[in-house]
Amino acid sequence: MAEFHEAVIIGGGPAGLTAGLYLMRAGIDALLLEKAILGGAVINTWQIENYPGFPEGISGKDLMERFSAHAKAFNLKIKEFASVEEVSLKDRLFTVKTEKNIYESKGIIIATGTQSIKLGIPGEDRFLGRGISFCATCDGMFFKDLDVAVIGGGDAAIEEGLSLANIVKKVYVIHRRDTLRAQKILQERAFKNSKIEFLFNKRPVEFKGKDSIEYIVLEDTRDKNITELKVDGVFIYAGSRPDVAFLGDLVDTDEEGFIITDENLATKTKGLFAAGDVRKKRLRQVSTAVGDGALAAFELERYLIELKQ
Ligand SMILES: Cc1cc2nc3c(=O)[nH]c(=O)nc-3n(C[C@H](O)[C@H](O)[C@H](O)COP(=O)(O)OP(=O)(O)OC[C@H]3O[C@@H](n4cnc5c(N)ncnc54)[C@H](O)[C@@H]3O)c2cc1C
Repeated sequence: MAEFHEAVIIGGGPAGLTAGLYLMRAGIDALLLEKAILGGAVINTWQIENYPGFPEGISGKDLMERFSAHAKAFNLKIKEFASVEEVSLKDRLFTVKTEKNIYESKGIIIATGTQSIKLGIPGEDRFLGRGISFCATCDGMFFKDLDVAVIGGGDAAIEEGLSLANIVKKVYVIHRRDTLRAQKILQERAFKNSKIEFLFNKRPVEFKGKDSIEYIVLEDTRDKNITELKVDGVFIYAGSRPDVAFLGDLVDTDEEGFIITDENLATKTKGLFAAGDVRKKRLRQVSTAVGDGALAAFELERYLIELKQ
């Protein structure tokens, strides 16, 4: 027997929790489904300095605990460890399936964010959890006073490289280009940090070791020269992609898989909205996810009013 809610939000990061807060304050019966624990991608981030209202910075965990507490204070119904596997639509009623339950709703907000991209090179799967990680805040302490490499040149790579530099002996930042994509303020801090060494124009082609990772095989992107770098740990920040296969053909996506919405966050299916990192947009941050969550909830409310009339 399916459990009915006027609205279902899929994903419990900044976008989903904001949408939940707005829906509850609008008097809409909303349920949020989160496949892991609440908080989303930022939950393991050591320090967030660009979310307004926290000039001294705040950890991702603390910020997201505030988001969750705020949504819960308005009685948002939340189910953690509920991974949505399929969404379908019949006669303007959505059916949402998780492994254990079936839900029905009149409107849906997709706020499932993105997942880290693997490099897809030899040794990556073998050493995952044996020296290779996607989360410095989670695993950095395992490498206290050791040498690690961070792969990537964007905000996440440089932020996490700076955070690792507080713990480890040395951080190599390996980037395939000769300039970084990260914000200027982060770049300046990293360039000044004596524990961080930049290896530009290099890309990893293999990870080697016995029981745990010992070497990264690097190819120079200009002359294809191969070298080996000895490390104890590797943190991969090679970007991220959404996974929205569970929506079937209810949404259109761009060539990278991000959901295409109009400016009111509506997808091609009436009653189905997308908010946050999962949708095609230019800036993926907590602040933009929050704005999306609020707008998607507002538009969903209008859609429900329209349905009643
Ligand atoms: C290392 C790192 C550092 C960052 N630092 C900053 C920063 O300093 N400042 C800043 O503004 N932004 C930062 N960001 C970006 C920020 O984390 C994202 O822009 C923001 O979290 C997007 O929010 P979201 O709600 O759209 O998605 P997410 O935060 O990704 O949340 C999506 C949620 O949906 C859940 N989910 C996914 N699929 C399903 C499913 N099928 N069923 C149920 N639940 C599902 C996920 O488990 C997740 O909890 C950082 C990101 C990373 C990775």
